[in-house]
Amino acid sequence: MRKALIFLLFQLFSFILFSQDIDFARKIIDTLTSAYFSGRGAVDEGEKKAAYFIAKQYKYLELKKFNDSYFQEFKSPINTFSGELNVRFNNAKLTAGVDYLVNAQSIGIKGTFPLVWYNVDNVPSKKQLKKLANHNFFINKFIVIDTKGAYEDSELFLLQLNLYGATGVVLIEDNKLTHHLSNIYNDYAFIIVKREAINRSFKTLTIEINQKRVRDYQSQNVIGYVEGTEHPDSFIVLSAHYDHLGMMGNEVYFPGANDNASGVAMLLNLAYHYTHKEPPTKTIIFIAFGAEEVGLIGSKYFVNHPTIELNKINFVFNMDLMGTGSKGAMIVNGAIYEKQYAILIAINKKGNYLSSIKKRGKAANSDHYWFSENNVPAFFMYLMGGIKAYHDIDDISKTLPLTKFEDSFRLIRDFVDEL
Ligand SMILES: [Zn+2]
Repeated sequence: MRKALIFLLFQLFSFILFSQDIDFARKIIDTLTSAYFSGRGAVDEGEKKAAYFIAKQYKYLELKKFNDSYFQEFKSPINTFSGELNVRFNNAKLTAGVDYLVNAQSIGIKGTFPLVWYNVDNVPSKKQLKKLANHNFFINKFIVIDTKGAYEDSELFLLQLNLYGATGVVLIEDNKLTHHLSNIYNDYAFIIVKREAINRSFKTLTIEINQKRVRDYQSQNVIGYVEGTEHPDSFIVLSAHYDHLGMMGNEVYFPGANDNASGVAMLLNLAYHYTHKEPPTKTIIFIAFGAEEVGLIGSKYFVNHPTIELNKINFVFNMDLMGTGSKGAMIVNGAIYEKQYAILIAINKKGNYLSSIKKRGKAANSDHYWFSENNVPAFFMYLMGGIKAYHDIDDISKTLPLTKFEDSFRLIRDFVDEL
């Protein structure tokens, strides 16, 4: 089965190579979000498989290598959840990803535990909590926290920190479930449950979480370049992270279509353009960053171990969330590099590409960050509008509109040509 799947993927790609633009992008996104890549995280080597897939595309596109390899490897810790994952209140079994998420810093656990409920009608005082904690009341129990209607300085919010030593915490969520990654873990189990999936009549929680912190998890950046025809020693970096949130247990994975298979598709589209259509005047380096989701690890590593001198990089253009665009784009650092922002605005106006391009100041929200912190001018562009899916199981290719993908491609291409 797996062999057949790999064969299919390779077949798929020889076809992808000869088609272009939006079809090309859709196929890349379909491929990277397929179950084979396990959400491009630490579990099942999903991120590594994605790195190999991207390197294979680089090879097809005939991008050049630094130090004879497309890979720049590095290690960093990550807290992971693999294997069995089960959550059952009384006899009601919950569905992972739909009804609940495991908090990124949870520990593993297995057993059946009584529940202790706290909500606005039942806000414990610090004194009460301390007293209960002193009698080991919370050991082998899960606290259920319902903060609906509570003031933000209420003890209910502090209970999330589990200062009173419960074995586990259940937080009731009214908004959409949004997952994250962490490189550390706490000393208690922690799940976030949708309000619809839990009710006050529940007395017990039967739970199994398998957690493991991988101390020296290896990720890699995938780097290739095309030499400039006129100024080969002058560099422009185009980047997009290819990792995502991986798996939560052995059944649920986070596809990450918008975040950031869409950016990788844009990166490969641009690489195709500069290798097969229009050779660039300056050298363009393409970087698919790894380990972005756990804290911008890949880009930090690159900036600390650059394959070329950082001061030779004219500009970095980082792409993350390129799958929508009905509400235009945002340029992080646009408010800092005013000159380049003005160029981008002028190009957009001339080409009539996006409805609006807004600007922000600096933010540590994607891989551009370490560059501008190290005096390398960098933009981070993300598209807005369209879908609500973000860091959840609904960020899938099927519902990703790619509304402004082609116009964004033209915008970035024209901007790079102008630099
Ligand atoms: Zn992202």
